[in-house]
Amino acid sequence: MEQLKEKIREVPDFPKPGILFYDLTTLLKDSSSLRRVIDLLTQKYSDQKIDQVVAIESRGFIFGPALACNLQAGFVPVRKEGRLPSDTISASYDLEYGQGVLEIHTDAIQKGERVLVVDDLIATGGTADATSRMVHQLGGEVASFAFIVELEFLKGREKLDGFEVFSILQY
Ligand code: AMP
Repeated sequence: MEQLKEKIREVPDFPKPGILFYDLTTLLKDSSSLRRVIDLLTQKYSDQKIDQVVAIESRGFIFGPALACNLQAGFVPVRKEGRLPSDTISASYDLEYGQGVLEIHTDAIQKGERVLVVDDLIATGGTADATSRMVHQLGGEVASFAFIVELEFLKGREKLDGFEVFSILQY
């Protein structure tokens, strides 16, 4: 795990003063590290029946499709407001550095489907929580949340209380 941590670039004061940004592009360009994180996520969920991997724009999209393929699940994008072309539902969220609205297509999840929510990093848990609310509104069941990086000091998993939260690297 320390080897993976060494691959993540820590950028101070991005995108705002006071934020330490965990830049995963330096991990992604290293082929063995990229494979390792996808393999770790696949191993964690391979014996669970996951119907849909729901990933959060934009960095969740890097990991979601590869994981969905390995788990023989579908892939569903959750996007920022105004970007999905068909009928949507929305949920608002607070970010470590801002506020926003997320959307999902109304036909993206069927009632009773088991969903794995994926993003690159959990900070306050606001985006993951908003995504979970939309999945439930559509009748889906959140089986688990998965992240590459967890910023434990921001206590995001407390916002997802009652759900399984898995992260590969903790800070
Ligand atoms: P949150 O909703 O507070 O858990 O924020 C998580 C989302 O914001 C993820 O999509 C991350 O990509 C992004 N994010 C928040 N804080 C950071 C950070 N310090 N470094 C990198 N990405 C971050």
